[in-house]
Amino acid sequence: MKDNRYSLTGYHKETNEELWLWDDLPELDMEIGYKVGALLHYEQSPFQEISMIETKAFGRMLVLDGTPQVTAKDGFIYNEMITHVAMATHPKPTKVAMIGGGDCGPAREALKYKDVQQIDVVEIDPRVIEVCRTWMTQETDYDRDGRIHTVIKDGYKWIQEQKNQYDVLLVDRSDPYGPAISLYKRPFYQYVYDSLTDDGIAVFQSGSPYYNSDILKKTIGSVKKLFPIVHTYLCSIPSFPGGIWSFTIASKKWDPLKADLNGLQWQEAKYITPEVFRASFILPGYIRSKLEEK
Ligand code: SAM
Repeated sequence: MKDNRYSLTGYHKETNEELWLWDDLPELDMEIGYKVGALLHYEQSPFQEISMIETKAFGRMLVLDGTPQVTAKDGFIYNEMITHVAMATHPKPTKVAMIGGGDCGPAREALKYKDVQQIDVVEIDPRVIEVCRTWMTQETDYDRDGRIHTVIKDGYKWIQEQKNQYDVLLVDRSDPYGPAISLYKRPFYQYVYDSLTDDGIAVFQSGSPYYNSDILKKTIGSVKKLFPIVHTYLCSIPSFPGGIWSFTIASKKWDPLKADLNGLQWQEAKYITPEVFRASFILPGYIRSKLEEK
């Protein structure tokens, strides 16, 4: 791993004058490189290094501590898939929360459900939201919609104060580094369970099933101890390592495999359809075997 990974010079390719972002996967002896067409923004906030870069393949890319989080061109896939599966499974999602704000894409997707009265977006680092507003999603009704409340707080602390509150909770966490580490701790899953109503549903970003199957397995193991209904589902995100990504849904009552999908707000979506919703739960054999391994 480069010692200066988190500094601007860490992006500098030694062989020429070009600027490159290297997404470092040290445990796999891998780095994935993106040529930086333009470094639009760079800062070290109290929580993490934030940059916004222009790339040829994905347009604008939000990068936190050297790891791509969301891109202008394919961010819709992540945002739709973390949000719609739970929103369509719950018959009347009224009060919704999400931990991890960033570009606030999931909040925009959740607003498409007519029963929603309140969406609480809990973000530890206000600078991420501000940088995204400036460089990524300037045009949005998000800021004008009175149903959305932004809470600037560590999600791990915030969740402990919520009891029996939310119909749907989306855990839009970064990978388990930096400020997001606490969102992978064992007690966190109990706090999530307690924050939900009696028929509430939670969704966790659970990593690459190829590169981070340990994270996925730990997430499944933790939620299975608490929730009667747990499923992992997949989607394809070209800008994420390996291209295939997992979410894990944990529900107290409603089973996504039995959802009628009449309420799925997919007409304006670009990735999810009723067929994609159903198919996303079908896991390739190698992933199923990995998850069954002791
Ligand atoms: N899907 C988002 C988007 O469209 O921009 C990307 C969100 S990114 C995966 C995760 C976000 O979680 C970052 O904005 C990060 O600052 C925030 N975060 C990390 N640790 C957190 C914590 N402990 N509490 C609340 N937010 C946290």
